[in-house]
Amino acid sequence: MKNYPGNLYVVSAPSGAGKSSLVKALMEVDRGIKPSVSHTTRAPRGQEKHGREYYFISEAEFDRMEGRQAFLEYAEVHGNRYGTSREGIERCMNEGDDVILEIDFQGALQVRKQFDNANLIFILPPSWDELRARLMRRGEDSPEVIEKRLANARQEMAQANRFDFVIINELFERALFDLKAIVHAQRLRYAAQRQAREDVFAGLDIP
Ligand code: GDP
Ligand code: ADP
Ligand code: 5GP
Repeated sequence: MKNYPGNLYVVSAPSGAGKSSLVKALMEVDRGIKPSVSHTTRAPRGQEKHGREYYFISEAEFDRMEGRQAFLEYAEVHGNRYGTSREGIERCMNEGDDVILEIDFQGALQVRKQFDNANLIFILPPSWDELRARLMRRGEDSPEVIEKRLANARQEMAQANRFDFVIINELFERALFDLKAIVHAQRLRYAAQRQAREDVFAGLDIP
């Protein structure tokens, strides 16, 4: 698993920073990246569909999956449990795609231990006021849940220094450009180019 030849991206952010919007927008323009769909015990929000945003499962089912070591990583976040299934991520990898995980920082650090080449990206909001405004504007969480998420944001953002990249999501299009730039740069790495364009290397007699 450590030698996964594709690129693995792990995106973390405090709730409301714009992580899901950015990842969704990236995947609309880049078909070479596949999302890992997490399992969670949280209830679905209005438009969310089982198997698309998350697999929504019971506490008991989560316990069972944990018991049979079905998770590559898992964590409790804002009072709900979230986990990335090994099987799901391995399926994406076997198909040769790049994979993107939208998970909290505890999960991101667990993934880094297992994949040396994981790219850890942290998304920051431009300010506290804007973070609160986005959570309220999204209108998906109760005021109590929003307060809990804001309280957790302080500890989460203190972990940004453990990530490889930081994107400040002030202007959405600028942040999306930054995310695309990170993905693009990884595809220009020597090993990636060698694999993608072996014809050119061979034609140039590069050993
Ligand atoms: P959001 O923060 O508003 O996107 O709300 P969610 O309820 O979708 O996610 C809450 C937190 O759980 C976020 O910090 C996510 O990054 C994190 N999360 C989602 N899926 C996973 C997962 O599979 N593993 C871990 N460790 N964290 C996850
Ligand atoms: P997260 O997945 O990090 O919790 P979302 O992607 O759900 O965050 O974004 C939270 C809210 O902020 C959404 O309503 C989204 O449309 C909005 N949003 C995202 N990025 C920006 C931005 N750059 N400027 C203004 N609003 C934004
Ligand atoms: P979501 O429902 O995930 O919050 O956002 C839906 C879509 O709206 C995303 O695919 C994203 O492209 C777009 N979007 C969300 N927030 C913004 C924003 O502030 N500016 C722009 N230009 N697009 C946004």
